[in-house]
This record gives sequence, C-alpha cells and structure tokens, in this order.
Amino acid sequence: MNIESYALEEWHSPQGDTKTLYASATGSPIGIIGSSLDTKKMIHHAKTVGGENLRQMGFHERAKILKALANYLSDRKEELYELNPLTGATRKDGWIDIDGGIGTVRVYASKGRKEMPDGKVYVDGAIEQLSRKGSFLGQHIHVPKQGVAVHINAFNFPVWGMLEKLSQSFLAGMPTIIKPASDTAYLAEACFRIMIESNLLPKGSVQFIAGGTGSLLNQLSVQDVVSFTGSKKTAELLKSYTNLIENSVKFISEQDSLNASILGLDAKLGSPEFDLFIKEALSEITTKAGQKCTAMRRLIIPSHSFRDVSEALKENLSNIEIGDPHDTETEMGSLVSKNQKREILDITEKMSAENELIFRREVPNEGAFISPHLYHCKTALEGGIVHDIEAFGPVATLMTYEGQEEASKLVKLGGGSLVSSIFTADSQFATEIVTDVAAWNGRIYINNRDSCDEATGHGSPLPHLTHGGPGRAGGGEEQGGIRGVKHYMQRTSIQGSPEILTKIRNQWVPGAKTYIKKPHPFSQSFDELSIGETLWTNYRTISLDDIEHFANFTGDTFYAHMNEEAAKANPFFPGRVAHGYLLLSFAAGLFVLADEGPVLANTGIEHLSFQKPVAPNDKIKVRLTVGRKTKRTDTYGEVKWDVVIFNQNDEQVAEYGLLTMVKYEH
Ligand code: NAP
Repeated sequence: MNIESYALEEWHSPQGDTKTLYASATGSPIGIIGSSLDTKKMIHHAKTVGGENLRQMGFHERAKILKALANYLSDRKEELYELNPLTGATRKDGWIDIDGGIGTVRVYASKGRKEMPDGKVYVDGAIEQLSRKGSFLGQHIHVPKQGVAVHINAFNFPVWGMLEKLSQSFLAGMPTIIKPASDTAYLAEACFRIMIESNLLPKGSVQFIAGGTGSLLNQLSVQDVVSFTGSKKTAELLKSYTNLIENSVKFISEQDSLNASILGLDAKLGSPEFDLFIKEALSEITTKAGQKCTAMRRLIIPSHSFRDVSEALKENLSNIEIGDPHDTETEMGSLVSKNQKREILDITEKMSAENELIFRREVPNEGAFISPHLYHCKTALEGGIVHDIEAFGPVATLMTYEGQEEASKLVKLGGGSLVSSIFTADSQFATEIVTDVAAWNGRIYINNRDSCDEATGHGSPLPHLTHGGPGRAGGGEEQGGIRGVKHYMQRTSIQGSPEILTKIRNQWVPGAKTYIKKPHPFSQSFDELSIGETLWTNYRTISLDDIEHFANFTGDTFYAHMNEEAAKANPFFPGRVAHGYLLLSFAAGLFVLADEGPVLANTGIEHLSFQKPVAPNDKIKVRLTVGRKTKRTDTYGEVKWDVVIFNQNDEQVAEYGLLTMVKYEH
C-alpha cells in the first residue's frame, strides 16, 4: 500500500526519500511513505482558501461540522480497527485511539455549541469598567489567527493525536496541515481519507503530509501555530528553528514525561486503594505496550508496602497474555517497530546498570515484542536515570518513601510531568501532596474507594481537562475544553464605549443604546428580538404584608425579614427588609406576559446580585433588555435578558441575567 499525502485538494503518491513501513508484530512490509510536496503552495492554499472558508463561518457552524464528522467517522470506524493491529495495538488499545479520538471530536462539537457564541468573536470574561461613569470600558475577545496550524504528531496515537488537535484548530477557525509520525501514518491516513470522503470539511481547511515536512517550518510566519507531540529531543530541535524564533511562531510542545503514581501511606495490602493501584499500574505498564505519554513510569510506594506491591505486580505481569494483537485474548501487543524495540532495550540496559531488575519474562521472539520490565530503584531520592530517561515501552520502576515530603520530592525529581496520580482514602495526605506537587504537573489524578467506579484512569487525557505539563513534559497545554481552542486564536483587549463594545461582542453592554419597541418583547419570536431591545415596567409597592405573606408561605422567616430590632442590629439592613427572592418573583410578575407565546421556558439565572435592601413601602420597577441571543436547536434559541430592578429613587437594588428559551418563529 502507498501511504499518500493530501495537498491542494489532491492525493499525492509517495515521492522523494521514501521508506518502507513494517507491521510491528510480524515485521512484514505494509507500504511505502515519503513526500516532497510544495509546502509553500500548501501554506498559501491553507491561508487563502482554507482560512477564508473557515472564517466565513461562526463557531456554531464549525461545531456542527465537527458533530457530523464524528458521526461519519463513527459509522466507518471498523475500517480503522482493521488496520489497528498492524501498529502492535490490541483492540482495547485501539479503542483509546479510535473511539477516543472520535469521542474527543464529539466533545468539542458539543462544547463549541454550548460554550462558544453563535458568531465570529469569542468574548472572554466580563466587561472591565475602566471609567467612573462607564462610558469607556474594556473587554477581552478572541478571534481566529489568520495563519495555518501545523500539527506534528507522535506515532503512538495516530487517530486520537490527529483528531484531538484538529478539533481545536478547526473549531477556532484555523486551517490545518497534519503531519503524522511515519511509523503509524497508514492508520492516520486511513482516518484522514475518511474525513475527506465525508465531504464535510471546507476546501483548504485540512491537508496531510505523509513523510517529511521538507522546508515547511522555515516558511511559517507570525500568524501560524505549530503544535508538536513527540520526544523531548525532537521538540528541542524544532523549537530552535531560527525562522520560528524570529517570527514568534507559537510553538505548543507535548513531550515525553516520567509520570509518577503514589500509593498512599494508608493504602495497605487488603485496602481498596491498594487493589486500585495494582490494577491501574498494571494497565499503565501494558496498555499500548507502555507506549503512552501519560503511562506511569515511576511507582512511588511507602517502604512498608514494597514487598506487597512488588509481589502483586510480578504475579499479575506473569499472567498477562502477550502476543498477536489480532487475537481477542491478547492483553498486550508489541511495540510499534523493531527500531523502537532496539531503543527500549538500550535504555533498559542502562537502567539495569543502576537499578535492580525485579521482573522480566518470555515474550514472542519475532517482530517488536518486548517483555514488561519492573525495576527497583533503591536510591531514587538521590536522583538518577529513573528520573531522567523515558523508556517508551512497558517499563516502570518502584521507589519507596517514608513520609509525604519524600513522596513529593520523588515526584518533582521527574522535572515536570503530564500527570501524577495518588491512590489514597486520606484526604489530608492527598491535599498535602497536591499542594506540594501541582506546580510540577499538568494533571493530578486521585482515586480511591469513593471514586473508583467512575474514575477515568491515570493515563487518560480528557477533552474537558488540560493535557500537557511543565518542564520536561514540554510546557504545552492542549484540550481543557475551550482553553485548547484559544491556542489557535488571538486574545485581544478591546477598549471603547458601551455602544462600540455592544456591536463587537454582539451582546448588549450596560450604557449602550436601548430600544423600546412594541409589542411586548415576550410576544416576539427569537428572530424578531433585537439586541438592546428594552421593556420598562410600572412600579409596584412592597408592603410589610407582602413580606410577611412571602415569609410564611415559603417558610423563609429569617430574622432580617421578621424582626425589626434584630434586623437593625445587622450591619447590612436599616430594619426589616424584603426577601431577595421576593424581589425576583415580583420582578417576574411585572414583566411576564401571561398569554401563550414564543417564550417557552425560563432556564436559569446568571450573575445574580442583590445590591441594596428594599424596605417595606419601597417601590420597585424593572428594566428588561435583550442582552444576548444564542441559537440552540432547530426550533428555539436562548435569549439572555439583562434585568435590573430599581427602587423609587432610581437606585439599582438587584441585577441578573435571565435565561429563556424562545422559538425562532411564532
Ligand atoms: P519523535 O520521534 O520525536 O517524532 C514526533 C514527530 O516529529 C513525528 O511526527 C516525526 O516524524 C516528527 N519529526 C521528527 N523529526 C522532525 C523534523 N526534523 N521535522 C519535522 N518533523 C519531525 O517522537 P515519536 O517517537 O513519534 O513519539 C514518541 C514520543 O512522543 C515519546 O517520547 C512520548 O512520550 C511522546 N508523546 C508525548 C505525548 C504528549 O501528549 N505529551 C503524546 C504521545 C507521545 P517522523 O515519524 O516522520 O520522523
């Protein structure tokens, strides 16, 4: 099979410096890879065609495409599972890569619809009041960068690695050039081909390089982003390219990591936490034959548990089925290539010189199979190779500690990790470790008897949470929900008048113009309502009877509403006051329209604040303004109304955002 590239809307056969790829378990040839594409034209095509096409859409349109893409890939995923064993991976390993990748696209599709605006500008945070009277305000926004995203991916997750990054750059609105690692590029290519065949992606939005990148990185400029995943060595080489430095090209780096896992002092043999630790450590050592950037490499255990942990791991590792990844009984397949095997054997030789090898076993001789290796490092607190060199295979080292400080010190000796985990039921111990080592980790996973039924696993990065870590882990950050999308956008602070900011945000800002339009806004459909449209209600007087009635009816007889003396003694109140919830209820009574209409439901309240007490016989009136409109389904969208309650002196007494669902048409 030829592993092809896709550039300028066409497939290209391998050219130039080609190389043959081999099935990892058997060593038989799979196909040829190699590229000598015109990367200058690819960048131009991405920027002029892809970028333009993507930026014509808003976040919701791109999110809808991602959703359709996830469905399409899901329908054809078995084609990918057929190729998966060639990489040495079992079906279960493939699930993380293939279903995990598709699942990530789905999460970004959903987050794009729910957490991003139905427009082209992402509003970040609240308005900043920069002047006393409010005529000059500030706001942070994000817009797509006007360059190309170059994704350079590692070999171990050819599908997930491609899809998780693409979801983020695509949703942001940036065209992407994907360069998978050569060793498993045939699986990435198969997935990419399905994406092209879906006809869902706009022209120019994606291109694919199977083989070397040529001079691509030397042609990037200010608006471009490189997102690299791979070894520390390659990352250091690439980020030192003069062109990338001179043009301040954003470089996101996800590198190798010597992740730690701590067994708590409390988690002795027989405890649920001990069993969980053994189960997860076993899975981390054997899943993908240990070729996971998040795999546990350093097992940090209390001295008193050393014998129990080592015996349990050795016994379990002896019983693992290692063999043909096609076989459904197989629990651990092979490494990706014989090269990788040679590299790991070199590293284990070095590790054996410094540490005691306490477990190794027989495995098939052919292909890239390798035994799980378990070491004991007796001098780990003094540093050493176990904290410095990543063996990207089924290799882990046990090291012991006496107290929390020693456990934390061992974690930090890794020089910055993607993830560390703690297995404990002792929340004090967990808190002390987290406080001490969080600065050295991108993610900390804590599991125990309370969370184990639903815990997602030490080694699983999730689209909702940041993936990446400080120091040797690269200092990069991906995913983390919409945070990951922002890497492909420029954050800009905008300063101006409420009117200007309302237009840019497409959300009303207090102080901007309001419109009074007949009929009542609740009788208008989503499409008819315009941002800034406002209703002023009549006054309503709040009597002591109202307050007492509300107190007795609801049971909220808090003294500030019922006892004049006690209320006066309270620093917040002049005497008895109305309940805040009574004000909200009366406000609704003042502005709702009783008749059936386009408003379907009240779905929530945002940023409620009670600003001034309301005493018996005070009057209130309400200003209701259309603040934000967001399409939600095919038939209705969300309208956020900015609501302010005023007293008889025109002072604000309460403020909130009221969320309602409103039909598009009558
Ligand atoms: P690698 O050898 O560093 O290669 C990574 C990527 O860089 C591959 O696509 C490779 O392409 C490309 N590359 C190498 N030299 C290049 C150059 N001069 N110009 C442009 N691209 C170049 O790493 P790997 O062996 O694929 O992956 C294993 C490593 O990745 C491990 O260390 C693992 O910890 C790390 N990893 C990290 C994460 C994370 O999220 N932090 C995830 C997975 C893996 P070719 O294959 O064509 O050489």
